[in-house]
Amino acid sequence: MRGKLVVGNWKMHGGLRQNDVLFADLRSGWNPPEGRRLAVCVPFPYLWQAQAALSGSAIAWGAQNISEHATGAFTGEVSAAMVAEFGCRYVIVGHSERRTLFGESDTVVAAKAAAALAAGLTPIVCVGETLKEREAGSTEAVVLRQLDAVLAKLGSRMADAVLAYEPVWAIGTGLTASPEQAQAVHALLRRRLRSVDAGAADVALLYGGSCKPGNAQALLACRDVDGALVGGASLKADEFLAIARA
Ligand code: PEP
Repeated sequence: MRGKLVVGNWKMHGGLRQNDVLFADLRSGWNPPEGRRLAVCVPFPYLWQAQAALSGSAIAWGAQNISEHATGAFTGEVSAAMVAEFGCRYVIVGHSERRTLFGESDTVVAAKAAAALAAGLTPIVCVGETLKEREAGSTEAVVLRQLDAVLAKLGSRMADAVLAYEPVWAIGTGLTASPEQAQAVHALLRRRLRSVDAGAADVALLYGGSCKPGNAQALLACRDVDGALVGGASLKADEFLAIARA
């Protein structure tokens, strides 16, 4: 039994005062049911605040990106080791917004996943197809290409990562993959993980893309859906907690 992991991705949202309220509401409202885990990935400047507010609670925290480099002349970048100093457990790598808006290639995403593991963080590696790719029938080829790049870099270390299937057409659009669509891709990813490394077969596979309290239960009930990566709804404590309990 893998249990369920629900992770919030705040994206570029937040502010000191509103974060205080959200952290307090999450902390007081989260009484984890058996086998459920909760985490929030916040913007870099709020990592210290997450650490102060959530230490000693059942809620983990993390970042949304890291540099693939360990140190050096990379103005504006933040290393995995820096993030780890703030008690982070997770870091999202390869989110579709990073891939499309910031030009991150499969190779860069794989290097970031390796950098995360080297710093003791759990990378949440995102894969997913655009609407055009789905309509062209290339969903499987796209997500396997993205996963294979990471597997080639990590090998058996993939067992220490988390994988998130986030169809790009469902992110922030209100469109959600049906449970059947999500399960089909998750089963494909699980088969690939198992074929490459037995230890990686149990990697937590999260679904992300307009996950809401109203659709979370059906998605989380799928055999190969081990949790959710939640964007917009993670900014409201009641919605986020409802998803985490679903
Ligand atoms: C995300 O950004 O990872 C995401 C899933 O966003 P949303 O839930 O808003 O679609």
